[in-house]
Amino acid sequence: MENLDKNNVPQQAMRGRENFLKKIIKSNKALHALIYKILRCNRFVFILRNSRLNTDSLFETIAIETCSICNRKCSFCPMNQDTTPKGLMSNELFDKIIRELKEISFKGDVAFSNYGEPLLDKRIVDFTKKVKKELGNRVMFSTNGDFLTPQKFRELISAGFDIFHVSQHDSEPSKTIKDLFSKTSPQEWKYISYEIVKNDSVTLTNRGGLVEVKTYYPFYCALRHVIVRANGEVSFCCNDYYNEVKLGNIKQEKLIDIWNKPLYRQIRNEIKRGIFNLPICKRCRGILPQKS
Ligand code: SF4
Repeated sequence: MENLDKNNVPQQAMRGRENFLKKIIKSNKALHALIYKILRCNRFVFILRNSRLNTDSLFETIAIETCSICNRKCSFCPMNQDTTPKGLMSNELFDKIIRELKEISFKGDVAFSNYGEPLLDKRIVDFTKKVKKELGNRVMFSTNGDFLTPQKFRELISAGFDIFHVSQHDSEPSKTIKDLFSKTSPQEWKYISYEIVKNDSVTLTNRGGLVEVKTYYPFYCALRHVIVRANGEVSFCCNDYYNEVKLGNIKQEKLIDIWNKPLYRQIRNEIKRGIFNLPICKRCRGILPQKS
């Protein structure tokens, strides 16, 4: 295999590493942390970046949590301490979301992600085909790569899958990840965006005060992104693991009606202006202490 980095991962698959400037920045830990702090963790930059955003218009991306089960217990994920039952989204619910997205002519990206490992859901290939057939949008997910065999990878690509965000959570890439790169061709790597996310990654958040991590408190606020959990609950932010902010459930309501609710609009509008009134946001930003 050619063009490998120190972790035996093809450089083409490493997110942003094709870009010379990013490569220089990422190779220097202190410089990377400094630039990250300025661009992602600065309130003024965040407000400026979003100043022209219309938070009342339709969301641009949707995360559909088809599976809330995970095979790992990462220290930086609230799932590691949660014992409540996990499961799969029902087929009926998934179909309802797709139907409603079609009704509103949704053109954005569809991600089978949130919490949970999407490849534990055997329906993922069929779901991809359904999105492609009914909506034609880009389809992606974030995976720990533990079940991403070359066969599954190719099966998904044949179904129309667009982007695999693969995260390495160990010091070394897992055997499955090594296999994936050694048994697929460089032409196929264009579908993969590879990232190393470990306990000491500075890009982690404290998940609304649920986990203890070293963090610079980045602004990952989802102003144009909607999340539907496996049980149908709608989340305003991926950091709201326990759905502390009650917006509604698509089992009872339409997704677009939930998106347009005054409470949801108000939250997006305030956050856009750098106003963080919700307790979860205050914990996420280190203004309130961790949740005990
Ligand atoms: S919890 Fe609030 S402050 Fe934290 S990323 Fe989400 S929206 Fe932003």
